[in-house]
Amino acid sequence: MQKKIIVAANRLPIEIIKTDEGLHFKKSPGGLVTALSSISKEFDLQWVGWPGISDLDDFMTEADFKDKLKNEFQSTPILLSKSLVNRYYFGFSNTVLWPLLHYLPNHCEFEEKDYLAYKKVNELFAETIIEQITDPENDLIWIHDYQLMLVPNIIREKIPNAKIGFFLHTPFCSIEIFKIIPHREELLNGLLGANLIGFHTYEYLRQFRDTIKHLLGKECDVDKVHLGTHSVKFGVYPVGVDVKQITDSLNSEAAKNSVKQVNRITKGRKLILGVDRLDYTKGISKRIKGYEKFLDKNPRFASQFVFVQIAVPSRVKIQSYKNLRDEIEELAFEINEKYEDENNPPIHLLFKSFDFEELSAFYKQAEIMLVTPVRDGMNLVAKEYVAVQKDKGVLILSEFAGSAGELGEALLVNPFNTDEIANALEKALNIFTWEKSRRMRSMYQKVSLNDIHYWGESFISDLTDFSSKEFHIAESTTILINKAQIDELVKQVKESNKTLIVLDYDGTLVELASSIESVKPDNELLDILNNLSNHPNYDLAIATGRSQENCDEWFNSLNIITSCEHGLKIKWKGETEWYQMLDNSEIDLSWHEPIKELLNKFCRRTPGSLIEEKESSLAWHYRQSDKELGKIQAKELVSNLSEMLANKTAEVLQGKKVVEVRIQGLNKGNLIKRINQLEKKYDSILIIGDDITDEDMFNSFPETAFKIRVSQGISKAKYHLNKVSDVRWFLTKLI
Ligand code: UDP
Repeated sequence: MQKKIIVAANRLPIEIIKTDEGLHFKKSPGGLVTALSSISKEFDLQWVGWPGISDLDDFMTEADFKDKLKNEFQSTPILLSKSLVNRYYFGFSNTVLWPLLHYLPNHCEFEEKDYLAYKKVNELFAETIIEQITDPENDLIWIHDYQLMLVPNIIREKIPNAKIGFFLHTPFCSIEIFKIIPHREELLNGLLGANLIGFHTYEYLRQFRDTIKHLLGKECDVDKVHLGTHSVKFGVYPVGVDVKQITDSLNSEAAKNSVKQVNRITKGRKLILGVDRLDYTKGISKRIKGYEKFLDKNPRFASQFVFVQIAVPSRVKIQSYKNLRDEIEELAFEINEKYEDENNPPIHLLFKSFDFEELSAFYKQAEIMLVTPVRDGMNLVAKEYVAVQKDKGVLILSEFAGSAGELGEALLVNPFNTDEIANALEKALNIFTWEKSRRMRSMYQKVSLNDIHYWGESFISDLTDFSSKEFHIAESTTILINKAQIDELVKQVKESNKTLIVLDYDGTLVELASSIESVKPDNELLDILNNLSNHPNYDLAIATGRSQENCDEWFNSLNIITSCEHGLKIKWKGETEWYQMLDNSEIDLSWHEPIKELLNKFCRRTPGSLIEEKESSLAWHYRQSDKELGKIQAKELVSNLSEMLANKTAEVLQGKKVVEVRIQGLNKGNLIKRINQLEKKYDSILIIGDDITDEDMFNSFPETAFKIRVSQGISKAKYHLNKVSDVRWFLTKLI
């Protein structure tokens, strides 16, 4: 059976036209349809979306309508009333999310009712998608764009193992702007329901990651975040164009006819072209002002050039879109009045939409293409121009378009600076032909390589990988242990004849305090440890990175096994002597002095940090330093250390707010294994720890041991408890 992909986007790729005779249905080819065309042979592709009409006017019953779309277009429509569309689409989606994601808060107007409608429609989408799932283990779900940000998590809550991808077609703004969005946390959590979230550029990915870090307090890796339920991978997938289809368009009849239309407008003058949806993000007014400055500096060009701006009407129900047309017309009118020469206006506005074949003729004729959005997720027009021109023409491109990241050979401009636009137009006229073609050829190569098919295929292939079980096992995150599991565990431990309980100290039994000196065991803890150690069925071990001195001072009164310095030494139950686990010949401390010097340097650079000296190791602690600075310095220190220790018998360990250099071959895991081998009498083992050094312990025991981590994270332990007080509470249950 073919694997299924359910693609959900605000609009279904179908055009439905109402006439007196009834409804007419037509496939509407968009970027997404093309992107998935090559995959559609391999997969059973099913679409979910709004069909673009709100009522069927008695032409058809709802059931017949749905049947027709399912059978002929592999689509499931979500029927939305007009008022729902107004609030969900024109309201929250396009007067809150769209302007803010594009850094334009002045265009934002929020109403709570709009958000409620947004939520309702997202729920409807999620329900409809769920109805289409036949095999949750294998079906892929791909959700598109800012109108559906809540959908991934609604599905995840109902189907925990669903395989969900999300792609954002707009920019992802910086946190300071995102914070303005009402219900921002809900939207972020909505997105995090996905297994894979795709962006056009790394900048958007970074901003998203920073936003979830700071607004949701999630610890993220560079390109992923681990949640209790699943891991979410972030990826960069710059959308491309269909180069082959574009080349074919140029040879079409429609393109040939369109050339005549272009010639009628240009009348022998050179063409400067702009092509956009009529949207305030596209920077059309500023572009026209830039063109005016260009003419002001070079009035003779008014008769040699014509600037044609194609502006496709869009979202006309929204007031700021209505105002835009008036503003643009006024600006163009003024310039044409100033420069008009024998009925040849230097600006020509076309407020209409062209078929791609017609449009390709405009691209072909344009000597200069002006693409100057004030913010744009990607901008395909820029790539289409490159695909048509191949090795001719000049592209002037805004540095705030996502495509600028790939098309660095364009003349990049700041679209807010109209003088820069004017200067770029002048520069475009003066570039040597060979230089023009060098730039265009290089861009053409990238556009053809990273085309729309590659975009779709790479996203689907990554979604398949990152939502697979293997990805989650390799990166498995702990699960919060629940009450029933604790009761079961306690029961099993109590029924065992002999249990080994191994506990880490800092971060497990006591909170990580800002000063490493101030974490002596308090009376409550000593009571718990005392009771556990006196229990006839338990052997209690404390395995810590602390020094022998600390352990002697703190635990001498307890009848326990103690191990210090991450396994360097051990003191058996009831004994007073410490045994060293390594031979003296194995202990090479030649690295000690130079490393101490380096750590001293980092102490001076990082206020609040300090060095702890132990027999087998040197630790640089930054608990009291500024969080951000501490992290940055730790990263730099680790990279310095790996160079310095390349040929030494020492290793670097990064714990919580500490970087430690220790003798190679020491680790808590080996030690605990040894205890187990020596005693051989344990029929259950319980280990609790909180950081990387404790992973060695978790690692060295089979699945049958109970392994608990303190706080959620990637671990060999299956479960976690949230904090130190929970560990203490849990231990008292064992007494
Ligand atoms: N387009 C079109 N006919 C027109 C004007 C534009 O088909 O008259 C197409 C254009 O070819 C491009 C798309 O509309 O593929 C615009 O995409 P872009 O990423 O540049 O901007 P968006 O409209 O998605 O913000």
